[in-house]
Amino acid sequence: MAKRIAILGAGESGVGTAILAKQKDYEVFVSDFGKITETYKDVLENFEIEWEENQHTASKILNADVVMKSPGIPDKAPIIKQLKDNKVAIVSEIEFASEFTNATIIGITGSNGKTTVTRWTHHILKEGGLNASVGGNIGDSFAKQVALSPSENYVLELSSFQLDDIKNFRPHIAIITNITPDHLDRYDYDFSKYVASKFRITMNQTNDDYLIYDADNEAINDYLEAHTIQPKLVPFSTTKSLKYGAYIEHNELIINIDENKIHMPIDSLALKGTHNQKNAMASSSAAKMLKIRKQTIRESLANFQGVEHRLEHVLKINNVNYINDSKATNVNATFYALESMSSDTIWIVGGVDKGNDYSQLNALVNEKVKAIICLGVDNQKILKAFNNCVDIMVETQSMSEAIKIAYKIGERGDAVLLSPACASFDLFKNYEDRGRQFKEAVRLL
Ligand code: ADP
Repeated sequence: MAKRIAILGAGESGVGTAILAKQKDYEVFVSDFGKITETYKDVLENFEIEWEENQHTASKILNADVVMKSPGIPDKAPIIKQLKDNKVAIVSEIEFASEFTNATIIGITGSNGKTTVTRWTHHILKEGGLNASVGGNIGDSFAKQVALSPSENYVLELSSFQLDDIKNFRPHIAIITNITPDHLDRYDYDFSKYVASKFRITMNQTNDDYLIYDADNEAINDYLEAHTIQPKLVPFSTTKSLKYGAYIEHNELIINIDENKIHMPIDSLALKGTHNQKNAMASSSAAKMLKIRKQTIRESLANFQGVEHRLEHVLKINNVNYINDSKATNVNATFYALESMSSDTIWIVGGVDKGNDYSQLNALVNEKVKAIICLGVDNQKILKAFNNCVDIMVETQSMSEAIKIAYKIGERGDAVLLSPACASFDLFKNYEDRGRQFKEAVRLL
C-alpha cells in the first residue's frame, strides 16, 4: 500500500515536498490553514495532488504515515499538538528531500549573512565548473529541485525554524555565519535555546564532515567550549591569525586550510565591510573543501555581484551615494552597515522594534551619522537612544518623504543609508517592498 503523507502549509516548501512525494509514489494530501495562492493551486492540480485550504481536516491528517510541517507553522498550533499526541512522525521539507538525494550538501545558517554566503558560495562553485544549485530558504524549494532538476551540489540556506524539525539531515559542510539575538520570541526569550537550534545543523554530521564558523563570535565559541561535536572545525576570524582556518592579516584575506594557501588583498573583495570579509572567508573555505582552484576562488571573490537589499548601491546623485540595506532587520546587521560607511551618513532607520538594544550602535552613530530619519511606528525608542549623538533627527511615516528630507540634508560626499534595524511590517509588505520603495523614491529625485 502506498505510504501516506500529509503536508501542512502550501507555500514553496509544502508544494515542493508534495511534488517530490508524489513522484516517489506517496499518497499526498496538502492542507493549508490559510488561502493557497492561485499559482500553487495550479501546480497542485497539474500534479493531481489533493489539497484543502482555510482548514486542517484532522481526520485526513492524523491518519498519515508521516506529516511534513512547513517552517512557518508554530509548534503551538493545535494540529501539531494533536499530531504529537497521536505520535505521528513530523518531518521538515529539508529532512524529507535529503532522503532522496546523494548530492553534496552545504548547509548555511546563522543570524545574519545566510543569503549572502549562500549566493556567494554558489557563485564560486559555478565559476569552478561544478553542477550546483541554491535552495532552502531562497529560490525554488530543495524538495522541488530534488524532484524536477536534481543537482550534484546543493547550497542550502537554512533558518533555525527549518533546523528545528530535522532528524537525520546531514550536511557535508555546515556553515554558521554568526549567532546574535534574533527571533527570540520563538525560543521563549531564551538565547541559549536559539543557539542550540542553530547548532542542530551539526547534529548528524560525522568526523568526515566540516563546520565552518565565525571564531570571533562569542555565542559560537561558548557553545563549542561546552559541547563536543563531530565535524572537523574550520574557523574564520577578522581579529586574529589562525594556524588553521581563514583570517585577515596585513589587509590580506588568507585561507589556510591545506598546503595551497590563498592570499587575496581585501580591497579586491567584491563586497565591502568587515562582515563581508567574514562572508567571503566562509564561502571560500567551503569552496576550498570542494577542491575549487585557487585562482577561481580569488576571481569569484572579486567579481561577485552582491545580493539585492544588502548594502546595495543604488545611485549617486550630486555626489551623494544612496545605499539600500533594507534587509538589515536587526541591530547587528545595521552595526556592520554603519561600520562599513566611509562618509558622513544620513541614516534612515526604524520600523517594528523587535526588542532592540541600540546602545551597541552608539559609538558608530557618534562617529559616522550626521542625521537620523526615523521611518516607522517605533520611533520614540530610537529618538531617545541617539538624542545625545546626533543634531538632526526627523520623523516620518513615508518613504518618499524620508528620501526628500535626506536629499535636502545631503551634501557632496555624504551617503544616505537605509538600514532599518527593524522589521518592515508597519509600513511595508516585507523588506523587499521597503527596499524597492527606497530605490523607486531615489530614482524619482
Ligand atoms: P540573512 O539571510 O541571514 O538574513 P543576508 O545575507 O540576507 O542574511 O543579510 C542580512 C543583513 O545582514 C543585511 O543587512 C546585510 O548587510 C547584513 N549582513 C550580511 N552578512 C553579515 C554578517 N556576516 N554579519 C552581520 N551582518 C551581516
